[in-house]
Amino acid sequence: MIASRVIVVVVGLVVGCGTETGEPPRSVDVEVTVGANGFSEPFTIDVPEHTRSLTIVATGAADGLYALGAFQTADGAEHVGLDLGAPPGAQMRSSYDTEQIGQMPGMLFQTIRLGTFTHVYPYRPDQSVVAGTTTLRIASDRPGPVRVRVLMPPDDGGQVLHVNLFVVSDTLVLAQPAPFLDELQTIFNQVGITIVVDETRVIAGSGLARITQSTEPQEAPGSQSARLPALATNPLSPGALDIFIVESLPSGIGGLSLGTPGPPVRDSYYYGVVIRYTANEMAMAIVVAHEASHFLALQHVTNTGISGTVYPDPLDDTQPGQSNLMQTGTALTADQGFALTRSALLSVD
Ligand SMILES: [Zn+2]
Repeated sequence: MIASRVIVVVVGLVVGCGTETGEPPRSVDVEVTVGANGFSEPFTIDVPEHTRSLTIVATGAADGLYALGAFQTADGAEHVGLDLGAPPGAQMRSSYDTEQIGQMPGMLFQTIRLGTFTHVYPYRPDQSVVAGTTTLRIASDRPGPVRVRVLMPPDDGGQVLHVNLFVVSDTLVLAQPAPFLDELQTIFNQVGITIVVDETRVIAGSGLARITQSTEPQEAPGSQSARLPALATNPLSPGALDIFIVESLPSGIGGLSLGTPGPPVRDSYYYGVVIRYTANEMAMAIVVAHEASHFLALQHVTNTGISGTVYPDPLDDTQPGQSNLMQTGTALTADQGFALTRSALLSVD
C-alpha cells in the first residue's frame, strides 16, 4: 500500500517573497500607524526555520524618531518590555537630542533614528532567532504612518561582504585594486569575513565631494551625507554595501556610517558609509573597517553622553582600554564577530 501524504502550503497574509515553496517569506513589508500613545498597533511576522537574523527597517517621517516599541518572539519572550501605557516620545527625544546618544529605553539595546530606524536581532550570542509567529510594534515621538520591512535571510553561513567603492570627487583617483584592501581584509580575517569589491566608480560633479556638516548622535535624512546614496545609480552589484570616498569631512571625522546598524535596503537614504580619503593605507583600512562594522552591526565599546554618562555596548567580551576596532584599534572580539555575521548583507559567495 502506498501511503498518501498531505502537503500543506502556508500562504502568508502579508506582502513578501519566499525562497522555497511552503516556507514563509524571507522579506516582508508591512504598513502600520503610530498612534497618539507613541506606539503602533501590534503586527505579526512568521519567522521561517533556519533564519540567520531579523533585520527590522522602519521608515516614517523625516523629523520623527523611531525604534521598536515591542518585540515578542514565538517562545513568548518580550524583548523590549516597555510600558505601553506610557508614551515613549519624550524619553526618545531626551536621549537623542539632549544626551546625544539615542539609546532606546527598555531591555533591548536599540539605536533610535531620525526618519529610518534599523535593528538587527540577535546582537549577543545568548540571543537567538526563534522560528514562528513574532509580534512587533513601532515606537515614535511622531504619530503617523510607518513602512516596515523585515528581512530574514537564511542561516547559510554566509561570510562574504560585497562592497562598491564610489569615489565622490572631481580630482581623486583611486588605484585599482584599492591599496588599502589588504589591510582591510586582515582586520576582517579576525571574524572570518571576506571582502569582495564589485565595482569601483568615480562620481564627479555632485557637489558632495567635500562634506562640511555632521550631526550628533547620527546623521539626519536631509544631511549632506544622506544625499550620497542617491548618487549610486544603477550599480553593477545592487547587493553590495556602498562605500563613498569623499575629499573631506568635518574636522576630526575620518568616516561615518549612515547607520549603527544601517538599513540593508538599497533605496534608503541611509544606505552606505562615508570615508574621508587619505593616502595612508592603514588609516583608510581602519576607518573603512570601523564604519562598515557600524553599518553591519557594531556599537562603539563605549559612548559618552553630554551628561558625562558612559554607555557600554551590549557585549560581555569588549572592554574599554583594549585596542578594539570600535574604540581606537583594530582588534575584534568573538562576540563582535557573532554580531557582524548576523548581517543580511553577507552572502555565501
Ligand atoms: Zn564610530
